[in-house]
Amino acid sequence: MKMKNLLKFSPLVAAMLFASCQSPQESLPSDEELQTKAIELSQRFIITDGHVDIPYRLSRQRFGLTRVMDDISQRTERGDFDYVRAKQGGLDAPFMSIYIPASYQDRPGASKAYADSLILIVEKLAADHPDKFALANTPAQVEANFGKGLISMPMGMENGAPIEDDLANVEYFFNRGIRYITLSHGKDNKICDSSYDNTRTWGGLSPFGEEVVKEMNRLGIMVDVSHISDDAFFDVMKLTKAPVIASHSSCRAFTPGFERNMSDDMIKELAKNGGVIQINFGSGFLDSVYIRRRDELRNIRLDYASQNNVAPNDSLVTAYMNQYIKDNPNYSTVQVVADHIDHVKNLVGIDYVGLGSDFDGVGDSLPDGLKDVSEYPNLIFELLKRGYSEDEIEKICYKNVWRVWNKVIEVANSHQNLG
Ligand SMILES: [Zn+2]
Repeated sequence: MKMKNLLKFSPLVAAMLFASCQSPQESLPSDEELQTKAIELSQRFIITDGHVDIPYRLSRQRFGLTRVMDDISQRTERGDFDYVRAKQGGLDAPFMSIYIPASYQDRPGASKAYADSLILIVEKLAADHPDKFALANTPAQVEANFGKGLISMPMGMENGAPIEDDLANVEYFFNRGIRYITLSHGKDNKICDSSYDNTRTWGGLSPFGEEVVKEMNRLGIMVDVSHISDDAFFDVMKLTKAPVIASHSSCRAFTPGFERNMSDDMIKELAKNGGVIQINFGSGFLDSVYIRRRDELRNIRLDYASQNNVAPNDSLVTAYMNQYIKDNPNYSTVQVVADHIDHVKNLVGIDYVGLGSDFDGVGDSLPDGLKDVSEYPNLIFELLKRGYSEDEIEKICYKNVWRVWNKVIEVANSHQNLG
């Protein structure tokens, strides 16, 4: 009976069935082809990354915590970023994080002086290696540098503490080249509350913080909502005249209770305002398993220290822990980074997601497949495998961030036209 029915198909349908049975994989490219494609796209598209901690890494070395300051114009053994690996990975515009630890906040003048010293490091990198690095204050400048094969080093300030209590400092840092400000870091500051601080000094943005956001809109500095408390985020969204970025945050849906990442409601609000969330690659930002594991490791460290009658930071314990982590690795993966991108895409659309690795800022917690700046093609490969189009990948690599950055400039220009 079945056979009879089959035979009833017209010759055309039968031919089509035969063709589709014969070579189902012909329409699907192989992994090898997708890998080649991923490398090609990583070189063809500008890749911008919202957060790379090069200035802080180099400044710590310079201040004697390590003896030799890495020459990042060459391949370096340490660290996640250098020129050679960035070129290999297709990275063109890493935002240099001018990161001010919260410990500088309490001493008047200290955070501003420290910010200035980090900006000098970036300026010096560009001046010392004009054939490799260049400063950039606008998307158009990055594009011009890209055309010359140079890696751009736009700057973002992580922690608004250097503004101290003087609004004029916002313009001062704009003139120094700062193009985004992460309003706070690990502790509440004069501008707003931090996601990592339970004090909740202001219940969101402070009155001074409101003035800072307005001033950033006026000048054309992107507001970065990474690190700030949920209340501060919603206060910013009510106030800002321009879209905002989360320069290095991931999705809280994967890490319940971790306020440092963005909840679905926040991502929706961010998208409504035209902003972009740039996914952080640190394993602790990607899944709760790693966070639980971190607690486990802390206990193992404490147990080992007490068994051996030494302090938990004793070199004996550190050596033991280094070996233990080596023997029992438990990193997240490049696939989970792609899961976060999927999540944002499914929630609000492809136009609101970008990359904010936190390279050189999250220590030894980077996921397998994204261990340093040479590995962006692995992520592009994963997206291609999931059926992302070239246009979608281009948006993730830079176009979404460009849209925000250009809009911020446009809003500032309209302010100036109003006088
Ligand atoms: Zn950070």
